[in-house]
Amino acid sequence: MIRAVPAVAGMDSYTLAELGGTDSVSLAQNESAYPASPMALAAGREALAQSAQYPDPDWRELRTAVAEVHPEVADHSVLFGAGSMELIGCLIRAFAGPGHTVLGSRYGYLFVGTAALQAGAAYETAPEPDFTVSVDALLDAVTPSTRIVFVCNPGNPTGTRIKNAELVKLRNALPDDVMLVVDQAYAEFDDQDHRPVFALVSRGDTVVTRTLSKAYGLAGARVGWGIFPQAIATQVRKLLNPNNVSLVSQAMAAAALRDQNHVADIVDRTARQRDATCERLRAAGYTIPDSATNFLLIKFATESKAAAADAELRSAGLLLRGMKGYGLPDCLRATVGPAEALERMTEILEKLA
Ligand SMILES: *Cc1c(COP(=O)(O)O)cnc(C)c1O
Repeated sequence: MIRAVPAVAGMDSYTLAELGGTDSVSLAQNESAYPASPMALAAGREALAQSAQYPDPDWRELRTAVAEVHPEVADHSVLFGAGSMELIGCLIRAFAGPGHTVLGSRYGYLFVGTAALQAGAAYETAPEPDFTVSVDALLDAVTPSTRIVFVCNPGNPTGTRIKNAELVKLRNALPDDVMLVVDQAYAEFDDQDHRPVFALVSRGDTVVTRTLSKAYGLAGARVGWGIFPQAIATQVRKLLNPNNVSLVSQAMAAAALRDQNHVADIVDRTARQRDATCERLRAAGYTIPDSATNFLLIKFATESKAAAADAELRSAGLLLRGMKGYGLPDCLRATVGPAEALERMTEILEKLA
């Protein structure tokens, strides 16, 4: 009998969204409703011609493009991953292992729990009253085994955000030997000033991650980045696949970053559709936390109503994300997807309310 190592054999498989047939529209994975910048698509087509070569292992063009948009990253190490998931996974494996705990928020990003188990570490969560991260609850949950505190802001699947000043408060109150990771996968949809969070990286104990998968419309290209203190970056880099981001993806991401007008337009349109949908669903009686992202967490009166709505939407070719894995069986998460699909979803939910 060939056996996996115990930490892996004991894990459940990571559950991705259940995707239906090709005639269904997915509102389950928070992908952009809009295509990436035409410049990104053109850059990708052009890069295809160089596919015989390995990509730049130092992501130099991409790094330059990130620094053009976020000049404050120039003071720190920037690493790129095949999605920010790769960075998060490698970061956790480099800094947490057996006997250590990774602490998240009750409705924090599930992949963090998976990455902790992959590393042989434990994953624990702090309560999240009103679907919103509580800095005090996180601080109360820190124990001597805590190595990493992970906060996604704005949060997934809640959509809510806390003020960046709260994250600064959290960092200042955490022990110096506990790493804080701030996952900003949806930060483009949250118009507060993010520089105070970036500035925490200079302390040497804080990491901030971003992705091109959401606002930039490049989920399929698999490009994420993070700003790291130098000493942390050195360790994480050892675990990254040396040629992790394909040549085509690097070209697309650099061009997408350089078209900020396009991102601003996507963010603006997405926010308007999100708020209009949210208002209609709330008027119909659903509970929905305020979202600073490209999705809505829809809470039903009961678990069976959520299940019935999910089934009805699926039979209409609309796939939402079930929330049982997050301990929220009475909720469904809906991506602010293509306008026509969103309209059909809203009409169905209005009728079911
Ligand atoms: C989508 C998402 C990511 C980004 O994943 P990628 O690997 O960059 O596609 C990271 N964190 C959260 C919370 C997300 O929802």
